[in-house]
Amino acid sequence: MSSLARLVAAAHVCEGASSAPCCVCRQCKKVLAHSHPDVTTVEGDGEIVAAEARRVRADAWVKPNEARARVFVVERAENLNMHAQNALLNVLEDPPGSARFIFTTENPPALLPTVRSRCAIAVFAEGGPPDGGANYDLKLLDNYCAALAGENALALFESAHALERIERVQMEAFLEDLRRVLHASLLGRYGAEAQGAPSGFGTLGNLESTALVRMYDRVCELIDDCGRNAGVGHVAGALALF
Ligand SMILES: [Zn+2]
Repeated sequence: MSSLARLVAAAHVCEGASSAPCCVCRQCKKVLAHSHPDVTTVEGDGEIVAAEARRVRADAWVKPNEARARVFVVERAENLNMHAQNALLNVLEDPPGSARFIFTTENPPALLPTVRSRCAIAVFAEGGPPDGGANYDLKLLDNYCAALAGENALALFESAHALERIERVQMEAFLEDLRRVLHASLLGRYGAEAQGAPSGFGTLGNLESTALVRMYDRVCELIDDCGRNAGVGHVAGALALF
C-alpha cells in the first residue's frame, strides 16, 4: 500500500486523543505495520475482476473487528475491470456506515464516471514548477507557510493579500511550490523522508495531519482552478481562508 493511502487508512481507524492519524495509537500502529484486521488492501497486479469486487462488497457489510471502521484500499484502481467497477457502484453509493473505500490510481479516466462521481477526489501529482521561468519572490511562500504553521489568521490574510499582486504564471508556480511543501510535510509527518519541498522552507510538521490533508486537497483544487482560468484575486482570496 502506498504510504499516503496507509496514512489515510490510519486516519479512519485512529483512536488517538487529538489529531488523526496520530501514528502512535494501537490502531495506527497496526495499519502502519500492515497488520490491521479491519484494513483490507485489494491489489491487482493484473486485472481486478468482478468476483474480487463482490467479495469487497460483501465484506463491507461485516462489522469491524476492533476499529470503528473497515477500510478497503484498492490500489491501482485502474485495474478494476468494468464488471468489477459496476459491482462496486451500489456499495459506493450507499455504503454501510462503518465502511470506507480508498481508491488509488495514476489513471483516473480508467474509472467509470459513475465511480468517480461517488468519490471525493484528491490529486497527488508529482512534478516541478510549471515551465516558463515563473519566478516569484520566494519570501511570499516563506511568509505564507509561516502564517499557516503559526495558525495566525491575520498573518495568513496579509500574506495571501500580498499574492494578489503577482502574475498569474507566478501564482501557478506559487501553488505548485505550496503543494510540494504540504506533500513533504505529510510524508514527514508519517515518518517518511521529506523530499521535494522547495529548498529553504521549513515544513508544516506541527500541523495536524487532517489539516495538512485538507490544505493539500484545497491547493490541488486551486491548481485546477488556475488551469480553468480562475483569477489571481480569486485564488489569493481562497488562500486567505485556509
Ligand atoms: Zn492513531
